Amino acid sequence: MSEFSLELNEDQLQVIKWVHDFAENVVRPAGHEWDEREETPWPIIKEAAEIGLYSFDFIANCFGDTTGQLLPAVNEELSWGDAGIALSIFGSTLGLAGIVANGTPEQVSEWAPQCFGTPDDVKLAAFCVSEPDAGSDVSQLKTHAVYDEATDTWTLNGTKTWITNGGIADLHVVVASVEPELGSRGQASFVVPSGTPGISQGQKFKKMGIRASHTAEVVLQDVKVPGACLLGGKERLDQRIARAREGKSAKGQAAMATFEASRPTVAAQAVGIARAAYEYSLEYAKERKTFGKAIIEHQSIAFKLADMKTRIDAARLLYQRAAWMGMSGKPFVAGEGSMSKLFAGETAVWVTEQAIQILGGYGYVREYPVERWHRDSKIYTIFEGTSEIQRLIISRAISGVHIR
Ligand SMILES: Cc1cc2nc3c(=O)[nH]c(=O)nc-3n(C[C@H](O)[C@H](O)[C@H](O)COP(=O)(O)OP(=O)(O)OC[C@H]3O[C@@H](n4cnc5c(N)ncnc54)[C@H](O)[C@@H]3O)c2cc1C
Repeated sequence: MSEFSLELNEDQLQVIKWVHDFAENVVRPAGHEWDEREETPWPIIKEAAEIGLYSFDFIANCFGDTTGQLLPAVNEELSWGDAGIALSIFGSTLGLAGIVANGTPEQVSEWAPQCFGTPDDVKLAAFCVSEPDAGSDVSQLKTHAVYDEATDTWTLNGTKTWITNGGIADLHVVVASVEPELGSRGQASFVVPSGTPGISQGQKFKKMGIRASHTAEVVLQDVKVPGACLLGGKERLDQRIARAREGKSAKGQAAMATFEASRPTVAAQAVGIARAAYEYSLEYAKERKTFGKAIIEHQSIAFKLADMKTRIDAARLLYQRAAWMGMSGKPFVAGEGSMSKLFAGETAVWVTEQAIQILGGYGYVREYPVERWHRDSKIYTIFEGTSEIQRLIISRAISGVHIR
């Protein structure tokens, strides 16, 4: 028998089924309501916490899966239910990823559980990188952190924008510039714990899609945190900055390390939306009749569905490969993490648009979910690195040329 296998094991399938049941019975039926309300679906996050789905233990269990497949697979399932609600549930994982990617083991064990809290006291986390003048170009961050050695205190000032859970989170992981002239190599990540004076929510954004997920500005005004809140610690930061000054390669730029690890998971969320739209329009095409036959009997509709399914499966294979490479320490020599996110995001936009077309007028109105899925899908070509930035990463990786 061949040793190569794409089959998931029994344990993985069991967890995926458990998440699927929650997505089907709780998340999907609530999708329309929370999209209209444009608010964080607290009751659903709480319900997820009560069954253990919204918890540090669950995410740690997924991270602990040595094949790397579980975390993206459960993200696909929950986004299949509803992407906005799924992002409200998994949004804290971005803050967590910032801590895991940059923190010391002691910092991870202290802060990671606080990203989720407990079922009786649910907490949220946020990861704050983007700024009004620094989205794709994170080397331009203006938020800065200044160290006072006498009191072992960092003072943060600046404005972050587009932050998922921004301002409503209990714990914000903030990427700030320590040595501005070194660009992204002079940046560091800080934990700003709940109740720290000086951090506040700015404007809350009204969005096109994923409207159940809260997105807002985060304003930092003389925010003081102790030295222990610098992820990775001062010694490691000083060494990294010294290496950058000498022009040596700097391992681990704060924001990039987090994004690299999370791309296959974000890709999986996009695949979940695409799959929802594909399944819905396949069923619809079998029911809806025109000119005396089901519309699926028209080859143009059937071929559309064949292409939708093919692209969805290709997108899933790309995220599975990237997740496996990430977990087994294989270097992304051709930007494979970016490939997965690029292809899944564009597939989700394309598939959901085809789904609207298959439903005709019914696809265009809010009584049916496909227009929402199309609105939700579009963010996947924008956040966590736009499609253009993914192409930049891939083209640089395959060519060795510093394409800008
Ligand atoms: C709903 C939502 C949630 C978000 N959540 C978070 C979050 O939790 N934390 C966080 O830090 N950020 C978050 N973001 C921010 C998101 O990551 C940025 O919006 C994204 O990185 C793009 O940055 P920008 O909006 O400044 O666009 P810009 O960087 O201004 O880009 C504008 C356009 O120019 C293109 N472009 C830019 N540079 C190049 C280039 N070199 N070559 C070719 N094309 C280029 C881009 O691809 C894009 O099409 C979120 C955004 C949204 C909308």
